[in-house]
Amino acid sequence: MGRVYNFSAGPAVLPEEVLKTAAAEMLDYHGCGMSVMEMSHRSKDFQNIIDTAEADFRELLGVPDNYRVLFLQGGGNTQFAMVPMNLMKNKVADYILTGQWAKKAAKEAELYGKVNIIASSADKTFSYIPDLSDLKISDDADYVYICQNNTIYGTKFTELPDTKGKPLVSDVSSMFLSEPMDVTKYGVLWGGVQKNVGPAGVTIVVIRDDLVTEDVLPGTPTMLRYKTHVDNKSLYNTPPCYNIYICGLVFKWLKEMGGLSVMKQRNEEKAKILYDFLDNSTMFKGTVAPKDRSLMNVPFVTGDEEIDKKFIAEAAAAGFKNLKGHRTVGGMRASIYNAMPKEGVVKLVEFMDNFEKNNK
Ligand SMILES: *Cc1c(COP(=O)(O)O)cnc(C)c1O
Repeated sequence: MGRVYNFSAGPAVLPEEVLKTAAAEMLDYHGCGMSVMEMSHRSKDFQNIIDTAEADFRELLGVPDNYRVLFLQGGGNTQFAMVPMNLMKNKVADYILTGQWAKKAAKEAELYGKVNIIASSADKTFSYIPDLSDLKISDDADYVYICQNNTIYGTKFTELPDTKGKPLVSDVSSMFLSEPMDVTKYGVLWGGVQKNVGPAGVTIVVIRDDLVTEDVLPGTPTMLRYKTHVDNKSLYNTPPCYNIYICGLVFKWLKEMGGLSVMKQRNEEKAKILYDFLDNSTMFKGTVAPKDRSLMNVPFVTGDEEIDKKFIAEAAAAGFKNLKGHRTVGGMRASIYNAMPKEGVVKLVEFMDNFEKNNK
């Protein structure tokens, strides 16, 4: 069949150019006679790989000098614990619930302190972003936590909450590097790279200097202290070297594409093609309030489970893979990350249009 259009939510599609470069460099990385997988993480070659990756990432996202960039392991779920362990000095934090990942983060934080839910869209199965205009930020909160793009429900914050001076912590996993961000608005932002940036196994954390302290909750393991990784420039222990190398290739690709403003424009264009179709279809419907729609994850339904099943099967046979919705939502979901070409979305919409005509 060759390469398919892969609409997986994650691990997800990577740029073909990146995979080709990785293949070409597999046996002999830049004449050093070995694969990046076989190299010491203390070698000059690897130091150069991680330094270049960090520099390119900083340039792409415009990370200011008073923020550290960390390449960590343990996935998003480890950040759910690391955030409270490192930041909950008063043992209080405010969380906004916009889906499963925010809920899981809040539940994990409850192991360490008091969690105040200051807004939620649970009443309508997380199909919108709650009103942020009058949030009751707790006086003693150590931070305010959001999940900025909700991979499962397909919503995205189009503005950030006013945290009244408290550090904002944001899970940006499924929108990482899909558009420019103002890093100065955040205390911490982090993302598992397997959604939009690279292969599973790396979590990139961007943290403001003043939040990196020795003063963490008692019993916090060495590996789960941000300071450990800041002090050792992400090389306290053996990092996921090969995955960091692939992320570095993706950063180079993003720079060649023209950077994050260009990516945003491309992503808006792609998403519009799909949303316009959904808005005009009599069979397929988007599930999210239009003002809160994600550019990356697009859930949709027909309202008939049998038709959904038939569509997913026929789409897969035609080369449009992984369109099944999350098990908690049902229906379909098309994840259209940076590496999904516009052509993939155009062809998907053509396929949906034909399916609709043939199944009236
Ligand atoms: C996938 C995902 C996670 C969980 O990441 P793991 O690396 O599997 O722990 C957390 N948050 C968001 C927004 C995600 O999309």
